[in-house]
Amino acid sequence: MSTTDTLGTLGTTTAQARSAELEKLIQKEPGRFRVLTGDRPTGRLHLGHYFGTLHNRVRLQDLGVETLVLVPDYQVLTDRDIAENLKEYVEELVLDYLAIGIDPERSTIFAHSAVPALNQLLLPFLSLVSVAELNRNPTVKDEIAHSRQAAVSGLMLTYPVHQAADILFCKANVVPVGQDQLPHLEITRTVARRFNDRYGNGGSVFPQPEALLSAAPLLLGTDGTKMSKSRGNAISLSADADETARLIRGAKTDAERHITYDPANRPEVSSLVLLTALCEDGDPRQVAEEIGAGGAAALKRRVTEAVNGHFAPIRARRAAYAQDRRLVRDVLRTGNERAGALADATLKEVRAAMHCDY
Ligand code: ATP
Ligand code: MG
Repeated sequence: MSTTDTLGTLGTTTAQARSAELEKLIQKEPGRFRVLTGDRPTGRLHLGHYFGTLHNRVRLQDLGVETLVLVPDYQVLTDRDIAENLKEYVEELVLDYLAIGIDPERSTIFAHSAVPALNQLLLPFLSLVSVAELNRNPTVKDEIAHSRQAAVSGLMLTYPVHQAADILFCKANVVPVGQDQLPHLEITRTVARRFNDRYGNGGSVFPQPEALLSAAPLLLGTDGTKMSKSRGNAISLSADADETARLIRGAKTDAERHITYDPANRPEVSSLVLLTALCEDGDPRQVAEEIGAGGAAALKRRVTEAVNGHFAPIRARRAAYAQDRRLVRDVLRTGNERAGALADATLKEVRAAMHCDY
């Protein structure tokens, strides 16, 4: 069963309404917010990442919100036994971040395996949730269904709690994510609340972070299911114009000729229409109307042109950054140091709250 089915549209609608309110508060007082978000180094970043979360991160950074971007390298092992091509994928991720406009002078890009104090938070946090709660998490169920492992690992079950440590170590209060992350964020909020209740001594050690959804919280891949790095259905940000055209030509559509924007009943066609509108900065209904009787072939031509046009400057910047092999290492070293200092301070506070500060 897909995340869309298990999560239901109601949860997403509520989260989208809350995102709109949150957006207003951020615009008013960007200095009150801190963003933490990240992407597993399991492959190249794709259009789903860009429109689901990356674009929001850059926007918030540019608004003046302190932004931390995490490369959760340990979490690669949640659904596979070996983290293949890890170094290459981490490097590719950082290049993508730089190319889309994450500025390492203003934002912190780091890998969580390089921040020991962050990982230590996992232990007290695990004591705050039950096995039943972890088993019920719909995203964990979905990821188990797509896992490459013969048996579910303990890391898979505890993944959302690790994510709570990723978010709470720096006391982030906004997390720009795609729809699949909403159940995980609920666990982070639960961990923060329970920690405060149990150890906060009437005060609060951790904020309860909120999800910020974009206009495309679940972009579909070329096979009509969630676009994912690991599912062979993605169009990556680093793909060139020809590869993008080829992948879009092979994208699943449906038997109805006339193009409409109807996400509930025509998910594949609507996702392509939405992608076009996002790249053109237009309205999906308007795009569908314009294509109308042109059918799937006209839709695919239009979406290809829109994607290639929108990503041409990003791809050019990426190619330029890729020339400098030391850059990625330097960005990560600085980011790891900054994140390490924040994590040490939070762990100290946590140990004091738990009376472990001997
Ligand atoms: P994997 O298949 O390895 O799990 P993924 O493509 O699902 O990779 P993640 O690293 O798990 O990518 O997700 C990183 C962020 O991007 C999360 O916030 C997630 O919600 C968001 N995201 C991923 N795929 C999509 C998508 N298709 N549409 C919108 N947002 C997405
Ligand atoms: Mg994922």
